[in-house]
Amino acid sequence: IYSPDYNITFMGLEKLHPFDAGKWGKVINFLKEEKLIADDLIVQAREATDEDLLVAHTRRYLNKLKFLFERVQGVSKATIIDLDAHQGNGHERDFMDDHRVYIMDAYNRYIYPGDGFAKRAIKRKVELEWGTEDTEYLQKVHTHVEGALNELKPDIIVYNAGTDILDGDPLGGLAISPQGIVKRDEVVFKAARSRRIPILMVTSGGYQKRTARIIADSILNLHNLGLIDKELATKIKYELPLAPYANEP
Ligand SMILES: [Zn+2]
Repeated sequence: IYSPDYNITFMGLEKLHPFDAGKWGKVINFLKEEKLIADDLIVQAREATDEDLLVAHTRRYLNKLKFLFERVQGVSKATIIDLDAHQGNGHERDFMDDHRVYIMDAYNRYIYPGDGFAKRAIKRKVELEWGTEDTEYLQKVHTHVEGALNELKPDIIVYNAGTDILDGDPLGGLAISPQGIVKRDEVVFKAARSRRIPILMVTSGGYQKRTARIIADSILNLHNLGLIDKELATKIKYELPLAPYANEP
């Protein structure tokens, strides 16, 4: 799911900005170069209809996951795996005391937002130190992703694959290598696949110049390992609304 609107432009001002605000367009172009995708496989997110908005307005926030529960057959529990460098206090506050949602969050404990109230919603909290490196990080991700999915088997995983964990990120304060990010995504997708749980990945934060290439490399790696399936993506695109994954052959 992609739209050129994702690429932030401010009348040329983005060129002065230290972040790569055009990373999503670059990811798409890298994947096209590798022939993994073409335009016919891209789904553009549509603007929410009044009916859609009504679903969310009863809930105070427009919340995609609540939308999922109400509109997609067969989804009654979900696990959020949040591996962006920041604590995910938005979804945590949204799903406080909501037993349909299991939250695992791994983040730098010293950076924004440090939201102590929201932390109460996290079932598996992995608090990282400044400059955490690949070996320790990947071991913790592996242990806690497996642990989370063993504790509760959800109908869907929502995976926040933020790349602001990358070494040198001015906000994240962690020191994960590009290969570490590729490996991290692989660990999460393998855990999902071995249990046959569908997974929704969002690319989220991380705006260094090399970020787009790393995201594309990770997606290509997942494809090469058979963890994402172009044919299935095509099927989903043409058979929306989503059928429950359990019925897939
Ligand atoms: Zn972040």
